[in-house]
Amino acid sequence: MSIFSKDILNDRVAIVTGASRGIGSDIAKALSESGAFVIGTATTLSGADKIKETLQDKGEGRVLDVNDDNEIAQLIDDVKKKHDAIHILVNNAGITKDNLLIRMKDDEWDDVLNTNLKGPFKICKSVIKIMMKQRYGKIINISSVVAISGNPGQTNYAASKAGMIGFTKSLAKEVASRNITVNCIAPGFIETDMTDDLSDDIQSTLMSGIPLQRLGKLREISNSVVFLASEGGSYVTGETININGGMLMN
Ligand code: NAP
Repeated sequence: MSIFSKDILNDRVAIVTGASRGIGSDIAKALSESGAFVIGTATTLSGADKIKETLQDKGEGRVLDVNDDNEIAQLIDDVKKKHDAIHILVNNAGITKDNLLIRMKDDEWDDVLNTNLKGPFKICKSVIKIMMKQRYGKIINISSVVAISGNPGQTNYAASKAGMIGFTKSLAKEVASRNITVNCIAPGFIETDMTDDLSDDIQSTLMSGIPLQRLGKLREISNSVVFLASEGGSYVTGETININGGMLMN
């Protein structure tokens, strides 16, 4: 259930990458529950169908690999033609390929940096022209607590997510005069399929580093996305909202 009124995003068109599962799926749902029409993306047709099933008449599912220039161009072009505007972009799609630096292969570095950082760069580049013309836009990039804290085994992932924060601030400065805000959300450990599968031992080690002593819920991320996408967040730009149960106070 949304904590926001059902119509605060009425007439808004939103794109959410990686909306087939986890955090992205809930962000897409939350935006649609607040009135937006949401185009959610997945890398497979079955994922895109699942998104449509979730959003029903409040959105659609599309296939998109953020590493594919043609797919990005086609998606943005189609959305613009069909809806005549793109108000909200959530760069959520992301991957991990963990390894200690000493063993990390070039492919593991490149795949993570390309998907998590170059992908959002390409999509922003495509969407920003439309947002500048319409003099309105809300871009929300999903970073991570490890961008700030670091995490062994995740030099590639932490670099991509820290890069996203610098990218966000720079783009925010470039487009502020056009009434476009660009922000990051940096989640801590959130309840997803991945964290559900962790052993009790690992879960309890995790908890010891979280002052609020629990994992975050999907909606605790999505609520901040809706806030930043709505007029409530209109004076916030270039910021990173940390949602991590207090992990960074350590
Ligand atoms: P997830 O469950 O693994 O889902 C990842 C999503 O990204 C899926 O929809 C996937 O599509 C899509 N995706 C993967 N590679 C893609 C590509 N090349 N092009 C387009 N889409 C692609 O992830 P999550 O745990 O919900 O995390 C979502 C975001 O939050 C990520 O950016 C992640 O880094 C960040 N985050 C997560 C946590 C956490 O605790 N879960 C914490 C901090 C930050 P398919 O389903 O088609 O594969």
